[in-house]
Amino acid sequence: MTVLKVFEYPDPILKKKAAAVEKVDDELRRFLDDMLETMYSAVGVGLAAPQVGVSKRIVVIDYEQEEDENGNHLRGRPRYFINPEIVWTSEERVCGEEGCLSVPGQRAEVERFEKIRVRYLDYDGKEREILADDFLAIVLQHEIDHLDGILYIDRISRLKRNMLIKKMEKRREEEAREK
Ligand SMILES: [Zn+2]
Repeated sequence: MTVLKVFEYPDPILKKKAAAVEKVDDELRRFLDDMLETMYSAVGVGLAAPQVGVSKRIVVIDYEQEEDENGNHLRGRPRYFINPEIVWTSEERVCGEEGCLSVPGQRAEVERFEKIRVRYLDYDGKEREILADDFLAIVLQHEIDHLDGILYIDRISRLKRNMLIKKMEKRREEEAREK
């Protein structure tokens, strides 16, 4: 498995609407494995294909990862969503803090639907549907947004967004100086 490069704001790939996957085959599954490996290595709970420079409608999620007593990473329950489509949303909404591997070091409160129903293809290309709530619902909405070229910072006020982008740029400058 290969750890892929994670593209960061303001790379234009993150603004692009991703194309549907036409076939779930071994080549695609290899890419899914690489995405998962990349997400684990970047210590994220979700990753969308555009974040690794591939403009396709693919999401991987695992928020049940753990560490053993020696600090080794243990995978939790990897979930793969190919061509995910939100087919229902609850009226209730929730607010939670989100971060993103493409917006390093930052977090902000974002409003999301509390529950969603999503239709998708799984690792084997089988059509499935899931009623997601709690954390999974939030992560899924965040990742599906990526497929439409939307970052979570596009869903907060302009004032907050500008502040956050400034902080991110400052962090980058500091990191560059340390190198
Ligand atoms: Zn993200």
